[in-house]
Amino acid sequence: MYDYLIVGAGLFGSVFAYEANKRGKKCLVIDKRDHIGGNVYTEQIEGINVHKYGAHIFHTNDKKIWDYVNRFTEFNRYTNSPIANYKGELYNLPFNMNTFNKLWGVVSPDEAKAKIEQQKKEAGVTEPKNLEEQAISLIGTDIFEKLIKGYTEKQWGRPAKELPAFIIKRLPVRFTYDNNYFNDRYQGIPIGGYTSIIKKMLEGIDIRLNVDFFEQRKELEALANKVVYTGMIDQYFNYTFGVLEYRSLHFETKVLAETDNYQGNAVVNYTDKDTPYTRIIEHKHFEFGTQDKTVITEEYPSEWKPGDEPYYPINDNKNNEMYRKYKALADNEKDVIFGGRLATYKYFDMHQVIGAALATVEKEFGNK
Ligand code: FAD
Ligand code: UDP
Repeated sequence: MYDYLIVGAGLFGSVFAYEANKRGKKCLVIDKRDHIGGNVYTEQIEGINVHKYGAHIFHTNDKKIWDYVNRFTEFNRYTNSPIANYKGELYNLPFNMNTFNKLWGVVSPDEAKAKIEQQKKEAGVTEPKNLEEQAISLIGTDIFEKLIKGYTEKQWGRPAKELPAFIIKRLPVRFTYDNNYFNDRYQGIPIGGYTSIIKKMLEGIDIRLNVDFFEQRKELEALANKVVYTGMIDQYFNYTFGVLEYRSLHFETKVLAETDNYQGNAVVNYTDKDTPYTRIIEHKHFEFGTQDKTVITEEYPSEWKPGDEPYYPINDNKNNEMYRKYKALADNEKDVIFGGRLATYKYFDMHQVIGAALATVEKEFGNK
């Protein structure tokens, strides 16, 4: 008999399990995949830590969360500075003076601001209501056309006009020559990969892999007093209000023996609409690797249908409305805690998931 059955060995489930175990609670963690870690899982190939579910860069402004993850691992000094490749033209990301200079030849921040202001005026955007208008109002039409439109429409499978504005607000726009993709105070890659963090969190805790909660729901529920559920919320309630939509991804990983440095950077985004993948990751550059070979992964976005891996929630009005109904049911579900990206239907980064898990722990156990 367990105190908690934790469905999902991702970051949320693992932080909860670690904290509960520390407090003397008996936990069973299950996952339908054949490994722990959820989407942060890394695996060694040719001596290189490969991010199996896409590039994962840890960043946060919250000292408490930074100190927390540093208990489980040491981070290196990696700073994410992706390159955008638009039909062979290369631009620095996020949008900053290097990008503006390459695109328009402008040198001073005032010139760049004037250029953006002029394009914004010509487009007639005053109050941005969707991603397209938001992007144009932040950085003008040229950057929208070359660096945003194609990438975004591939990534989300919808016109930029139909997407919520908040997605693009994740990216900084800077009038300095600074290629750091994030504004956060703390950033890095765990030395030795993310899986080692999760392994440490789950040390001494019972784990069952290749177990789908829904295939043996009754038996599993009978094993514990409480359930922590990090899977899809609509599936938990048998799709009563309909199916929440996601975007899925397909990863093609290749070992290259003919070169030790394929693209000179960890992340290169392909921002035109015709290249079928959105980005290529060269994993060794996350850890300044010096191996003889290199491993790259192409990331292909795809339409999601039930049964596919759900990666990105589609937080448009229709889906958010449906989520609210499921959330109301979840709030009434006795002895079940819902958490993580899938159960709360949110586009969460790792630091936010850790923050949410720690808040749940505090609610459950108090300040002890
Ligand atoms: P998950 O990692 O999805 O874990 C949920 C687990 O539950 C999974 O292992 C799943 O198999 C299991 N599960 C689901 N249903 C069942 C079931 N029925 N039975 C048993 N097990 C089940 N964040 C950053 O901070 N920086 C980044 O650079 C970054 N890059 C990203 C890139 C991509 C491509 C993606 C998709 C995400 C990225 N993220 C990034 C976000 C990060 O992956 C998430 O914040 C984090 O992994 C969420 O953890 P979680 O525990 O909520 O969910
Ligand atoms: N984006 C873009 N061009 C880029 C990179 C990002 O248009 O070169 C947009 C795209 O809509 C994407 C969003 O910005 O979904 C957020 O980007 P981020 O890198 O945060 O995406 P994630 O890593 O979460 O996939």
